[in-house]
Amino acid sequence: MVKICCIGAGYVGGPTMAVIALKCPDIEVVVVDISEPRIAAWNSDQLPIYEPGLDDVVKQCRGKNLFFSTDVEKHVAEADIVFVSVNTPTKTQGLGAGKAADLTYWESAARTIADVSKSDKIVVEKSTVPVKTAEAIEKILTHNSKGIKFQILSNPEFLAEGTAIEDLFLPDRVLIGGRETPEGQKAIQSLKSVYAHWVPEDRILTTNLWSAELSKLAANAFLAQRISSVNAMSALCEATGADVAEVSYAIGKDSRIGPKFLNASVGFGGSCFQKDILNLVYICECNGLPEVAEYWKQVIKINDHQKSRFVNRVVSSMFNTVSQKKIAILGFAFKKDTGDTRETPAIDVCKGLLGDKAVLSIYDPQVTEDQIQRDLIMKKFDWDHPLHLQPKSPKSSVKQVSIAWDAYEATKGAHGICILTEWEEFKTIDYKKIYDSMQKPAFVFDGRNVVNAEALREIGFIVYSIGKPLDA
Ligand code: NAD
Repeated sequence: MVKICCIGAGYVGGPTMAVIALKCPDIEVVVVDISEPRIAAWNSDQLPIYEPGLDDVVKQCRGKNLFFSTDVEKHVAEADIVFVSVNTPTKTQGLGAGKAADLTYWESAARTIADVSKSDKIVVEKSTVPVKTAEAIEKILTHNSKGIKFQILSNPEFLAEGTAIEDLFLPDRVLIGGRETPEGQKAIQSLKSVYAHWVPEDRILTTNLWSAELSKLAANAFLAQRISSVNAMSALCEATGADVAEVSYAIGKDSRIGPKFLNASVGFGGSCFQKDILNLVYICECNGLPEVAEYWKQVIKINDHQKSRFVNRVVSSMFNTVSQKKIAILGFAFKKDTGDTRETPAIDVCKGLLGDKAVLSIYDPQVTEDQIQRDLIMKKFDWDHPLHLQPKSPKSSVKQVSIAWDAYEATKGAHGICILTEWEEFKTIDYKKIYDSMQKPAFVFDGRNVVNAEALREIGFIVYSIGKPLDA
């Protein structure tokens, strides 16, 4: 039986390996992590991450051919294929701080693989890493390997949180990059045969190592760029009376552009887009391409601009001050169907409003109070003045913030509502009931364009939707 071990039981390692186990009953899959609470959660009924369909997949194979363990060394040693899916955050200190990827976790995983391996292995980069990382990993492995041979493959993950299981079941493509040597090509074939259990042959692409590594950064940069492009347009729409939804529809009908990823919003978030673009910027700078770096920086600058534009709109609409006014924040996760708040635009919007002394009541169906408190006391990265991201103290809390059980509690007595995540329930809640319980005039700032603005205006709300003609 082929044995797979995956180092890193996070948003990628967990779901990806669960699907491999489900689709490949002839393969034993062990997901290992240094975090004991995370592994305990994977072994319990309360999985550490919320992802539609994940519970069901895990239940079907856990204990049969899918295992979660903290015994990293044992399972790495026994594996034929080792996936590495550890976090690769932005460096916070030293050379490249604020842009470069922090490969500390990757290096540590590679050293463990070299230390404990007693047989030849395929090592798969599942994490998103800078182009040329495989070269560095090869050095670490070969210089520590006691004669054991490793083949490095790049197999970046393209799943999107919120639809991870769907994406893994039928991926647009699986990308495998490897060395052009006979051993490299043999390794590619081995990994291909894993995915071939369920992924159609024409969706499995093979490339050289560097193309695969760079394709992941490029894909995220292109996706984020599309959001920043439509968000830049939304500002112009507001200034001119055009409607961004109509503009998006019109341009999306062009088959060269296509309709997806053209929704204007308060901005993109998540652990990947900003981090990967920063990384791309750094790689361009290191390769003597400052103009190209500048081009990609703009994608993040527009995203930051969109968030501050939103905050400014809230404050200016509410008579230029939100001081001591209760504002309901509906949605804190960076997108619907996930509890992930990493880099969520809600953090910047809430901090902006708190800066003007607003009193916030936050409701999100999947995000916990601890997460929100932690996110709001973390210092944010600054292009020029990078700070280490640490909570001030585990006990500190943001006093102007309370957490509500539902949208009705959050909005009761509020002056305004900011919708920051496109959860389905925000489309169907009883806005008449909410309006009756709020201070007047009652404002809705729809950061995701999910509500029917006309229906809300009929109730009496003053509504701001991104990129749409403004209320008189
Ligand atoms: P995560 O933080 O949720 O999970 C990473 C896990 O690795 C953590 O549980 C951590 O404890 C563990 N870990 C770190 N060092 C370890 C070590 N030496 N040994 C064992 N375990 C170790 O991160 P994630 O969201 O799953 O992302 C992982 C990688 O995949 C990143 O490079 C990310 O950019 C990339 N990626 C993420 C997504 C996404 O949607 N989250 C999508 C595609 C790619």
